Amino acid sequence: MIWKELNTGLYPWDLHDEGVERILDNLKSTVGCNAVYMTALMHYEKRPLHDNYYPHNPIRKRYLAEDAVAYWKPHPEMYKDSRIKPATSQRDFLKDTDWVKVLVDAAKKHDMKVGIAISHTPMNTDRGLKEFQDSIQRDVYGNLLPARVVGQKNSFHAQQLCWNSPDARIYIQSLFRDIATHYEVDMCQVSNFLFHGGYPALHSLLGVTLGGCFCEYCEREAAKKGLDWKAIKRTVRRFADIVMRNSLEANEDWLLLQRGDSSDLMMLLENPEIFQWLRFRCESITNYFKELSEAIHDARPGIDFRFNTNWRQAEYIGLDMTQVAPYVDSIRSTNYEEQTGDEQFVLDKGKWLSNLRRQVGEQKTIIPCIAPRGKATVDLIKKGIKLLALNGADGLSFAFYDGATKQNLQAIKEGMEEAGVTLASAQ
Ligand SMILES: [Zn+2]
Repeated sequence: MIWKELNTGLYPWDLHDEGVERILDNLKSTVGCNAVYMTALMHYEKRPLHDNYYPHNPIRKRYLAEDAVAYWKPHPEMYKDSRIKPATSQRDFLKDTDWVKVLVDAAKKHDMKVGIAISHTPMNTDRGLKEFQDSIQRDVYGNLLPARVVGQKNSFHAQQLCWNSPDARIYIQSLFRDIATHYEVDMCQVSNFLFHGGYPALHSLLGVTLGGCFCEYCEREAAKKGLDWKAIKRTVRRFADIVMRNSLEANEDWLLLQRGDSSDLMMLLENPEIFQWLRFRCESITNYFKELSEAIHDARPGIDFRFNTNWRQAEYIGLDMTQVAPYVDSIRSTNYEEQTGDEQFVLDKGKWLSNLRRQVGEQKTIIPCIAPRGKATVDLIKKGIKLLALNGADGLSFAFYDGATKQNLQAIKEGMEEAGVTLASAQ
C-alpha cells in the first residue's frame, strides 16, 4: 500500500515552546512525516487533550488555549465585507508573531507539505452572546442551543454559527481566503461544527429534534425552497416536547413510545416534515461547502481543500457526504479510537472508513487518523494503522504531536513498515 501523506497537527504554542525546527526534524526523523499543518484558529480547549500533562514540552506542563482566536496576522482588507472580524491572541508570547508564516517557511525548508486548519468554533461565546446572536443556531423553541456539557465553559455555548447566516458564511470564507491568498499553503482544512445534532442518546431519530437550527436565516432559506416551515416547526416541536417530556401529555406520549417498538423508518413515513427538515439541513451544509470550496480555490487554485469530519454520525448534523464530496479535495476523519485503550474500538476502525468510502467513491483522498495519546499503546497504534491500510486509506494523520510520547511516535513509523505501507514521496 502506498500512501500519499503522513501528517500531524501542531499548535502555535508548540512551535513557540519546542521550536519549529526541532519539531519538524523530529517529525521527519522519528515518524517519517511528509506533511504538517497548524490549527491557525483554535477553539477553547486544554492541551494536551487526553493527558493531564505534556510528555515532551520543555516549557510548560499544560496549556489552556484562548477562546477562538487567530494565530496569524489577519489582513484587514480581506474582511471588509465581513461583519464578523477575527479576534487575535492576547497572550504576550504569541501575539506578536505570525505563526502561520513561521510554520509555512519552516515546512518549505524541510520539504514538507504544509497546511492550516480552522477549528470547531471560529468565534467565541462572548461575542456570540453580545454581538452576533442572530448568526448563532437556535433550537425549535427559539433558544440559543444549550451548552453541550452543562456548567462547563468550554462546551461551545453560543458558539455554533448557523451556516445559513450570510454573515457566518462570509466570515469563514474570509478567514480561508486570507490565508490561501497570503501564505503558500498546500492544504486548507475546515473542521467546523455543522448543525447541532440534538441528543440522539435520548432517541435514535427523535433526539435530533432538539438540535438546530430554527433561526431567521434558516426560515428564509426554507421559504426560498418552497418548504412549509411552519408545518416543519410544528412537527419538530411536537416531538421535541415528547423527547423532553415537557408536559403531562408529552410525558404520556413518550411513555407510549417507549412501550412500543416503532422503527425510525415508520416515524419518518408518518411525519414527512421531519425528513423534509433533515434534508433541508443537508442541502444547507452542502451549499456551505460549495461556497467555501469556491472561495478557497479562487484564492489559490490547486490547493487541497480538506474537510475534517469530526463526527461519525453525520446524519445528525446535516452532513450528506455523497453531496459534499464533489466540493472537497480530501477528507480527514477523526477516528481516534486508540486513545480509549479499548482494542475492540480499534478493531472497528474500518467501519467509519468504509462508510466514508461508500459515500465518496474510490478516487477521493481519505486521510483517516490514529491517536497516539491518552490510553493508546504501541500495540493499538500498530493495529490501528494496519486496519486503515487494509481498508484503503490514502494516508494517515495522527492526533496529535503534542500528546504523543516518543515511544508512540516511533510506533507509527514501525506500524507503517509492518503493515507494508510506504509514502509516495519516499519511493
Ligand atoms: Zn439557522
